[in-house]
Amino acid sequence: EVDRLADLEKLQVIGHGNGGTVYKVRHKRTLATYALKVVHGDSDTTVRRQIFREMEILSRTDSPFVVRCHGIFEKPAGDIAILMEYMDSGTLETLRKSNGTFNEASLANIARQILNGLNYLHAHKIVHRDIKPSNLLVNKKMEVKIADFGVSKIMCRTLDPCNSYVGTCAYMSPERFDPDTYGANYNGYAGDIWSLGLTLLELYLGHFPFLPPGQRPDWATLMCAICFGEPPSSPEGASEKFRSFIECCLQKESSKRWTVSQLLSHPFVSMDRRSD
Ligand code: ATP
Ligand code: MG
Repeated sequence: EVDRLADLEKLQVIGHGNGGTVYKVRHKRTLATYALKVVHGDSDTTVRRQIFREMEILSRTDSPFVVRCHGIFEKPAGDIAILMEYMDSGTLETLRKSNGTFNEASLANIARQILNGLNYLHAHKIVHRDIKPSNLLVNKKMEVKIADFGVSKIMCRTLDPCNSYVGTCAYMSPERFDPDTYGANYNGYAGDIWSLGLTLLELYLGHFPFLPPGQRPDWATLMCAICFGEPPSSPEGASEKFRSFIECCLQKESSKRWTVSQLLSHPFVSMDRRSD
């Protein structure tokens, strides 16, 4: 439907990532709005590798729970632009900052949508590897979609553990730091479940679970807490179903963690069945 970048008009910047800028744009003729992620040709190789990874994955995914790609543009100068559906409520991170904490009913709805997205990705042998509130987009209909595939991995043969230091360290699972201790039958998919558990708990608590409210993350302390500490658990006030769901996600040993399909029938999410 959109065949030329020149048909788009930039309205505003909606996000800055490492290396790229995301704009809200409007198609001049149809007036439809989109998000456009632009990476410049002179960016360093890591940034370029990430945008190519993202192009590859977005061009082969087709799910209501994964952000839709409407086109990929490459300019002679080497600039790359990915045209995506525009998610008009921002991310789960911006929602948490503006609305505070989430109640369990909305978390069940959010959890079910992210699980549906992960179910689609894992079935297509894609490990996201950077699930966190700022990579989960939301619209006014409270639809939640997985975005930002810059560090994702398409699994082919066995996992290459040397290549696993990617993503946002804070949400990385214990076996990503220490596969010998926590990674029996390490397959990569379970790492997304850990990050999902941390994300949901963060939305419940209103702050990153491994740190007290307001404290800035310090990489070494955080890594020690993830590898040597107890996994964070939900506070007393939470329901039994929610506490159990979080516990199933935040097992330190990756083989004990529940899979996407097991979690989809967990009572916490299966009681929420509105849109599928
Ligand atoms: P980061 O390094 O911060 O993860 P990134 O370069 O990987 O960023 P994205 O996470 O894809 O880029 O996008 C950066 C931000 O732009 C998002 O956190 C979000 O606020 C906004 N954004 C991205 N895509 C969309 C979209 N389709 N609709 C609305 N906002 C979007
Ligand atoms: Mg991001």
